[in-house]
Amino acid sequence: GLQYPKPDRTRIITVANQKGGVGKTTSTVNLAASMAQGGLNVLVIDSDPQGNASTALGVDHHSGVPSIYDVLVDGMSMAETVVPCPEFPNLLVVPATIDLSGAEIELVSLVSRETRLRRALDDYLTQRDEQGLPRIDYVFVDCPPSLGLLTVNAFVTGREVLIPIQCEYYALEGLSQLLKTIEMIQAHLNRELHVSTILLTMYDGRTNLAQQVVGEVREHFSAQTLDTTIPRSVRVSEAPSYGQTVVSYEPTSTGALAYRQAAYEMACKLQHDH
Ligand code: ADP
Ligand code: MG
Repeated sequence: GLQYPKPDRTRIITVANQKGGVGKTTSTVNLAASMAQGGLNVLVIDSDPQGNASTALGVDHHSGVPSIYDVLVDGMSMAETVVPCPEFPNLLVVPATIDLSGAEIELVSLVSRETRLRRALDDYLTQRDEQGLPRIDYVFVDCPPSLGLLTVNAFVTGREVLIPIQCEYYALEGLSQLLKTIEMIQAHLNRELHVSTILLTMYDGRTNLAQQVVGEVREHFSAQTLDTTIPRSVRVSEAPSYGQTVVSYEPTSTGALAYRQAAYEMACKLQHDH
């Protein structure tokens, strides 16, 4: 297959949109799998109590498994929670369990509640360096559908935000609130944070509406929007029930091709873009 270019340094990408069901998790796991298949070392941090990314990547996430909850709330080292995805040994996962559903509340009373993920990831990447382990090229953080402390932690951790936008009627609603939150994080907690990538998902070319949404998004965010749009495809939605990404479950499907293309586009974006 295609070899993807390695970034000069680890790119940390937060996949966020406070709307549910827009393709955050699907995009996270399939972009990550595409990059892993392309020879890059990838880490996915599942930061949604639903644990959908963990499911799709085929890693155990029943309650009590060492997970992002332990890292955020109990200060466990990230290394103790990382497991490889069975499909791709160079795709590592920090799973999320249902324990994480209490974390939004538990974090409130903890010191440095906004910077816990950042510190843990910094330590983990440094530790890998010291141990002579290969550098992680991409980190993806899959966020829950809210702008609470889990998402804030993810925003403080990454430099880049990837916003998946579903090609449907209410697509742009709520976007201004998301952008406002990102600006606030920029001002107070993470100067480097910016929206680097917008990915249009679940595109159905047969409807005028979908085409209209695509046009509108491209007009407002021309620099950030990937040329590749992800089509609506049954294979994409089936893959998680087999504990797989569509990239490994049905590699020649339109969904898999689109995600590989989108990942390649992201990997080829110039260094100054991110
Ligand atoms: P989020 O993480 O933003 O809540 P998901 O990635 O879980 O969204 O996607 C929501 C639902 O839509 C899931 O059932 C998923 O399988 C389905 N889905 C996502 N992308 C596609 C697609 N391209 N084609 C068909 N179904 C999709
Ligand atoms: Mg999700």
